[in-house]
Amino acid sequence: MGAAAQPLTGAPAAEALLEEAARRAAALPAAPHLALVRVGDDPASVAYVRGKAKKATQVGLSSQVHALPEATAQAEVLALLAALNADPAVSGILVQLPLPAHLNPETILTAVDPRKDVDGLHPVSTGRLWTAQAGLRPCTPAGVMALLAFYGVPVAGRRAVIVGRSALVGRPLAALLLNADVTVTLAHSRTPDLGAVTREADLLVVAVGRAHLVTPEMVKPGATVIDVGINRVPTEDGKGRLTGDVHPAVAEVAGALTPVPGGVGPMTVAQLLMNTVLAAETQRQEAAGELVR
Ligand code: NAD
Repeated sequence: MGAAAQPLTGAPAAEALLEEAARRAAALPAAPHLALVRVGDDPASVAYVRGKAKKATQVGLSSQVHALPEATAQAEVLALLAALNADPAVSGILVQLPLPAHLNPETILTAVDPRKDVDGLHPVSTGRLWTAQAGLRPCTPAGVMALLAFYGVPVAGRRAVIVGRSALVGRPLAALLLNADVTVTLAHSRTPDLGAVTREADLLVVAVGRAHLVTPEMVKPGATVIDVGINRVPTEDGKGRLTGDVHPAVAEVAGALTPVPGGVGPMTVAQLLMNTVLAAETQRQEAAGELVR
């Protein structure tokens, strides 16, 4: 048995981010406002939206849940978004995914004003990220960057491998790391000999959604390993438990490792609230003529 990796626990890093969001929100003339749009009654979405609204209140933001019935027509969702875009009291708009099958998520996400795109998933936000312009960044990848910064993990000049190329996690994280002077490799389901690629990483990020995909022999000794994956695996009591994409034995090889649950997870909501504050700050500057866009 080797030495155990340093656990990069999310709670204190998320707490620091929430404190910063609260401090900056309090410095604004009005509390930033987060509009949460939910369509249908998917139980996980109901719980996520409720959790986001509760955390928003904790850091001094105002929020409103716009719950629309499952059968809502796309034109009605777009009309709500147009009203929220036009309302100067609304700082940020989050459309909870997944949407019911009759709605087109691309059309709906693109209808959010990029200035209020606190999810950071609008194509304009993506373009700004990849061209290293200021803008709102997707919450999970930005949360990973905040976690690394909180623990003082050096990134500039290092080699990172990200496993997973989704628009939600892998791709935007690649851009964020690139902007932070990291040499980045994106690996995915069609990467041959994944282990040979991951073993090159000083910083290995796994965002796949497959329990224990990454095993100790795939990890360079001393590497920092960030496990974004969330998988429910069966247990004898039938309740199931959450586990990551990284095998627990990786702790014997890695220098540092995020736990699942309790690693990257708490960073995502904290970053959403930080994004709402950032959006409100930028809108205030624009309204005051201090920022021309
Ligand atoms: P996704 O399904 O959109 O993408 C998965 C990616 O993994 C794809 O790019 C695919 O190419 C790659 N992949 C699949 N099988 C592979 C294999 N065998 N080897 C290498 N790569 C493979 O998923 P996503 O939305 O990016 O989410 C990934 C995971 O992260 C999920 O478990 C999800 O629950 C979790 N997640 C966690 C948070 C959080 O807040 N902690 C946020 C978002 C997603």
